[in-house]
Amino acid sequence: MIDLQSHGSVTAIRMARTLLGRPLYWTAAYWLDGLLIDSGPPCLADELVQIVEQLGVEQIVVTHSHEDHIGGLHTLHRRFPQATIRAAEATIPTITEPQRLGQQLYRRLLWGAPKAVSTVEPLGLRVQTDSFSLRVVETPGHSRDHIAFFEPKQRWLFSGDAFIGGRDRAWSSEFEMFGTISSLRGLAALHPERLFPGSGHVRRTPLPELHGKIGQLLTLCRDVAHLDALGMPDDEIIRRLCGGEPSIRFWTGGHFSAGNLIRACRRYNEVFDPGVELAKGEPVVRSKQ
Ligand SMILES: [Zn+2]
Repeated sequence: MIDLQSHGSVTAIRMARTLLGRPLYWTAAYWLDGLLIDSGPPCLADELVQIVEQLGVEQIVVTHSHEDHIGGLHTLHRRFPQATIRAAEATIPTITEPQRLGQQLYRRLLWGAPKAVSTVEPLGLRVQTDSFSLRVVETPGHSRDHIAFFEPKQRWLFSGDAFIGGRDRAWSSEFEMFGTISSLRGLAALHPERLFPGSGHVRRTPLPELHGKIGQLLTLCRDVAHLDALGMPDDEIIRRLCGGEPSIRFWTGGHFSAGNLIRACRRYNEVFDPGVELAKGEPVVRSKQ
């Protein structure tokens, strides 16, 4: 399933694999001025190519190495061999050798397996199109190699998966709390006026959304610290703060779980005091006891 939305000069291309006609999980690519940001999953690459054939593609960039962002590159490269493909240096090895993803079965079933693309160039500090100039912003946390793209004149932010809306109830063990919160703070400091996230759900009021997400994660970390101090067992903490383990833990063989999310909070709490940060709005490093 592909859904197109026009946002002025930007076309949002939302993609989802469906089950019984219902979308399972949305991911997105964005097109502007001959530039394609992200390439969707392997299983929807042919449909994506049909869409962007009408728009024209001169260059392609990706935000990170997950299969729902790099998965269309092989098919796009075959259809648009002249288009340059660029990625962060840390992302390139996974594009050229996608077996590095170590995809679990559920990921192969949901998205398909990416095929290797060898002609990938490293990104510089910016991406230039005829009409726009996008800065590359490092945003680790969701993955180590994650980057975002910011157009300062339009104040457009293409955030990939650095911002994921809604309330988090399960994390992958790959996600890292300090990077996630720091990256969200960095993105908020850019004062974007339009947020184009990896879900394709475009935000017209990005700042409250970004600050709301930071507050949500800090609050969770603070609550974990509080319950840990009471000596509460993990199962009870997960039940209280996440409503128990969600079904995604079963479907992903434990790759995503509430337990991972709680452990990510604990690693954050080893260094920072989220209660103080919430009160003062700035990170405070714990002093040594
Ligand atoms: Zn991702």
